[in-house]
Amino acid sequence: MQERMADALVGKKVVAVRVGDPVVLRALKPVDELLVGRTLRAVVHHGKFLVFTFDGLAMTVNPMLAGIFSVQPVGAKATKDTRLRLEFEGGTELRYRDDVRMGKVYVGIEAPGLADIGPDAGTLDWTEAEFSGRARAKRSEVRNLLQDQTFVSGIGNAYADEILWDAKLHPKRRVGSLTTDETSRFYGSLRSVIAKGLAEVETAMPAQLGKKPRAHMQVRGRAGKPCPRCGATIMRRRKGLDDVDLCPKCQPAPKGQLY
Ligand SMILES: [Zn+2]
Repeated sequence: MQERMADALVGKKVVAVRVGDPVVLRALKPVDELLVGRTLRAVVHHGKFLVFTFDGLAMTVNPMLAGIFSVQPVGAKATKDTRLRLEFEGGTELRYRDDVRMGKVYVGIEAPGLADIGPDAGTLDWTEAEFSGRARAKRSEVRNLLQDQTFVSGIGNAYADEILWDAKLHPKRRVGSLTTDETSRFYGSLRSVIAKGLAEVETAMPAQLGKKPRAHMQVRGRAGKPCPRCGATIMRRRKGLDDVDLCPKCQPAPKGQLY
């Protein structure tokens, strides 16, 4: 969705703003005053936040699981839960809907928590040494590290499983226990698995967008099937509220761990 919004709107100027409900807005001035006349330059995810960068100002949205964006022609019927509409030149409108008004839209002010969010996994530009240093500072288990939004953002359960399988690391290995080779594999797998995933998503038919393409997954969702690398049976384990899929042979458990 973020790519489609970017394709439709980046490079265009805001010509009008309609506020359906000021409750979701956080700004120091009326938002039309802040946004009209500015050109949208980028739309980027930072963890749970979506950041719209305009010339000289950012609009950051924390959808809180409730907010939904759409791009519509101006004049298309708007639903009651439409809280904010930005009309762009050329007759397209960005709409923000939120039926329970849990999300927040910050215009020209920083969203609380945004500064603590790590870089997006898809645009990571760390060197291996930088990755290693930052990872070690977290002192956590490798799977928790991948899902720690203050370390790197945007890695869900499925990609965490894929990265660890690719790197041949058990989810409960501690970052501090990794050898230099393992750290290197961990870094390489993080980069390559995410890059491959993004490429898959980009080439997926538009009709499939919205559904997450899973065909390229090697281990996620394949419990009971043979590991594509060694043939051992992939297992699914429970970790807190999450399911974890792994190969027991390629990803041996650290001493004292049952899985
Ligand atoms: Zn295996």
